Amino acid sequence: MGIYEDLGVRTVINVGGSNTRLGGALVSEDVIDAMSEAAKNSVDMMQLHAAAGKTISQITGAESGFVTCGAAAALTQGTAAIITGLDIAKMDRMPDTRGMKSEVIIAREHRNGYDHAIRAAGATLVEVGMNEIFSGAGVRATEAWEYEAAITENTAAIAYFYRPGSMPPIQEVINVGRKHSIPVLVDAAGQLPPMENLKKFIAMGADLVSYSGGKAIRGPQNSGILAGKKDLIASVVLQHLDLDDHFDIWDPPPSLISKEDLPGIPRHGIGRGFKVSKESIVGLLTALKSFSKEGNMETSQKFHSFLSSIATALANIPHVDVQMSVSQNPEVYPVLELTIDEELFGSNAYEISRKLKYEGDPVVYVSETKLSAGTLVINPMNLNQERTELAAKRLREVLSS
Ligand SMILES: *Cc1c(COP(=O)(O)O)cnc(C)c1O
Repeated sequence: MGIYEDLGVRTVINVGGSNTRLGGALVSEDVIDAMSEAAKNSVDMMQLHAAAGKTISQITGAESGFVTCGAAAALTQGTAAIITGLDIAKMDRMPDTRGMKSEVIIAREHRNGYDHAIRAAGATLVEVGMNEIFSGAGVRATEAWEYEAAITENTAAIAYFYRPGSMPPIQEVINVGRKHSIPVLVDAAGQLPPMENLKKFIAMGADLVSYSGGKAIRGPQNSGILAGKKDLIASVVLQHLDLDDHFDIWDPPPSLISKEDLPGIPRHGIGRGFKVSKESIVGLLTALKSFSKEGNMETSQKFHSFLSSIATALANIPHVDVQMSVSQNPEVYPVLELTIDEELFGSNAYEISRKLKYEGDPVVYVSETKLSAGTLVINPMNLNQERTELAAKRLREVLSS
């Protein structure tokens, strides 16, 4: 508290989820301890990345892996690796991709703000399909044959943003990529839990998969994971690390980079601005190990009980309907939905959210994903007993006034 107070910055009760604008998910004491220990010694970053790669391989089943400064960085760095491969002259030219295969095929319905991270590597998106379901004009989502029909000699990759129910089925898209030897880059940034998603896409044959470290894994907020093919990860490493070294005496760990494949060392690459600290790498690995070991049933049940006590505190408030929303998969965290009858209540969900954020004490940030439907969503990701009570009290105050 002291540090933020000194800066004149208020702490907030975050019941909105792992939002980056609120600093991501809070990390555990174990992660804080690991990061503070990591801060006390110097290490060779290449060796630390190699050790991290081994852990990521074990946990995801991928050939190799890399700790990035977030899933968005993983998309930029992964795309750059696909475009240049191990050609170090191409690496030095990035993001100028003239003369390189640099088109990335993507379904129209998959386009979102994070595809900027793919374009940032000098790629051009080639959209396929039609947004018929969202526009109410048709019944079919993009289909796998449409990706296949769009493949040309300029195609570098296929990008797939995964979520439950995303179409076309991801396996069909990966099969198209494999048939034509086109790498498939999967963004699964926020798709944990379930834990099985750490292995699923690699097992299906995806070439690169990105995850956020600062969401449910609860690593440092500026951490992420890129898991996948060894050569692609090697290219990521070469375009990221400080390689201000002499080739003759340079000794990269063979698990990460095969030196014999290279004519020299590239200069600072496109990934250089996505620097990851030793503290972040260690913090992410600590969080990832406990996330993948403990499973999430217990966490999910704990979150359910925090939300239940908020629901109890908000029972019987006029014109506010309180519903627990649980996934079919019990490992996926529940959320609490507070739906306002805006006409009878006399103000709308936007105004209530604004009031919670900017007025009163403590300030409470809810998830704003369903405000247009009159619903405030309570995400339990950052709750503990104390914050549950504070949030319940403030929500009750605002909703009954
Ligand atoms: C959160 C998110 C990202 C970005 O993840 P960071 O780890 O914050 O960089 C990318 N794609 C999707 C779909 C996301 O939800």
